[in-house]
Amino acid sequence: MKYTFILILVVASAAVAEWNSVIVPEVTRIDMDFFNDNGYDIEAVFRPSKVRLYVNEEQETALHNMGYRVYREETPVPLVAYPTISEIYASLNAVVSSHPDIARIEQYGTSVQGRELYAVIVSDNVNDDEAEPEIRITGNIHGDEPTAGMSVLNFLQVLTDNYGTSDMCTYVVDNSELWVICIVNPDGYVNVSRYNANGVDLNRDFSYMNTSAYWQGPESVAIRDITMQDWPAQSNYINNFATGLSFHSGVECFNAVWNYSTTAVIQDLEFITAQGNAYVNNPSIIDYYGSYDLWIPGASWYAIEGDVNDWSYGEVGTVDHTIEVSNVKSDPDWPGIANANYMPMLDFCITSTYGIYGTVLDGSGNPLDALIEVEKTDATDSSPLRFCRTDVVDGGYSKATVPGTFNVVATVAGMGSQTQTGIVVGSEEMIQVNFVFSTGIGESSPEDVFIRVSVAPNPVTGVCNFSLSNTGIDGNLRIYDISGRTVYEKNISAGVVNHAFSAGETLPAGVYQVRYTSGGHSASTRMVVAD
Ligand SMILES: [Zn+2]
Repeated sequence: MKYTFILILVVASAAVAEWNSVIVPEVTRIDMDFFNDNGYDIEAVFRPSKVRLYVNEEQETALHNMGYRVYREETPVPLVAYPTISEIYASLNAVVSSHPDIARIEQYGTSVQGRELYAVIVSDNVNDDEAEPEIRITGNIHGDEPTAGMSVLNFLQVLTDNYGTSDMCTYVVDNSELWVICIVNPDGYVNVSRYNANGVDLNRDFSYMNTSAYWQGPESVAIRDITMQDWPAQSNYINNFATGLSFHSGVECFNAVWNYSTTAVIQDLEFITAQGNAYVNNPSIIDYYGSYDLWIPGASWYAIEGDVNDWSYGEVGTVDHTIEVSNVKSDPDWPGIANANYMPMLDFCITSTYGIYGTVLDGSGNPLDALIEVEKTDATDSSPLRFCRTDVVDGGYSKATVPGTFNVVATVAGMGSQTQTGIVVGSEEMIQVNFVFSTGIGESSPEDVFIRVSVAPNPVTGVCNFSLSNTGIDGNLRIYDISGRTVYEKNISAGVVNHAFSAGETLPAGVYQVRYTSGGHSASTRMVVAD
């Protein structure tokens, strides 16, 4: 993201034409001493084995003659040529034709200049929208950062090629649905421009906390519409990504929400920090880069508005991180960089599946459009965690978390809320928490038992009444405080549909969960006791 720095370098070398910044890869301590002793200016050292020298043409020729590979930074010569956009599209299609059981390609939009916007979706049973964690990986929202897109393409190729042979690859494909978008900005890729063809910086074009214009580019709108079908409405989501990665090149760091503010609360801070630390400390990253910066929040590096991380987390609940893979936007060693980022990307996908997932369905098994709120009850992370929503196609949701104990609340417009408390997620576990909002009496399946609880008045200061559905069998009514402690319990006989309770006298002011259980089914609602 630090383009100012790069631009100054380019301008400076243009102004003094006979001097150039050059990168020399694969150097040792002995080479470094040689450069020092023989009048070469060392501008920067990139551990473990790469150096940037500031040289005149004579020195540059001498380096070549001595057998060093030398690359000018402002016009780097790639070890392997960067593919054209047509070649990238061909590679995407080759992945799908080689692995039709686990990969499919979808055109999710069209660029300003009419190029196809493609996503490759990877999962077992890839032609079904299964209720499993969804992950989005994007590259090249800035068109002139091809090293970013190559890292994404390489990940897609290696992941799919190793399905069935690598346990990690097989786990990711079997337990998640990956949306891989190598080139968000194909016009910029072709035109070697940061911007789209209308001069829009797409990574400043998202709406969340953005005080400037947004949704100016069809390419950013298309990313939005993969999930939010009716923006700005908070409903009717499809492809509700639990997590995401957004790849750039130009510096080397990992950064996370928030990018607009250093002071705004980050709700999933434990999880985000764990993923950030795992990425920058991955042995593959350390081996290649030596060290890798971690910025949480991203605004502590520097603040921007309208980027894809903030929108994803703020409006959708997707924990999305930025990965800057190289100090050079068009790095000559893009295969090496792509390889270095492969393992941390795979590890990121695996940790993105850990946590809580499930479905919210009606009594007939139809998916419901639900808000999911997860509260961590055994730690200091701000609570509740960032919301997520169900996918209206399959009713699935997923919330990636660190291990812990959680309450999960599902809310469906017009049908109330249900809460499941005390959900324990262990290390490296995916815990399934399903909800059924039943729709009628007399349906034959036990899953279709009509069960409901509501409270009036709410908020309550004195006596309230719980309205219960008649399940025909004995049940139980419990009230929990915010810590999950039972503060009231009453057995409800078969046929009883009303129960009066002196809430104001019995309970201190606060928010409570009311849970009615009967015949193995339960329904919950929230009750507020006011002074
Ligand atoms: Zn960028």
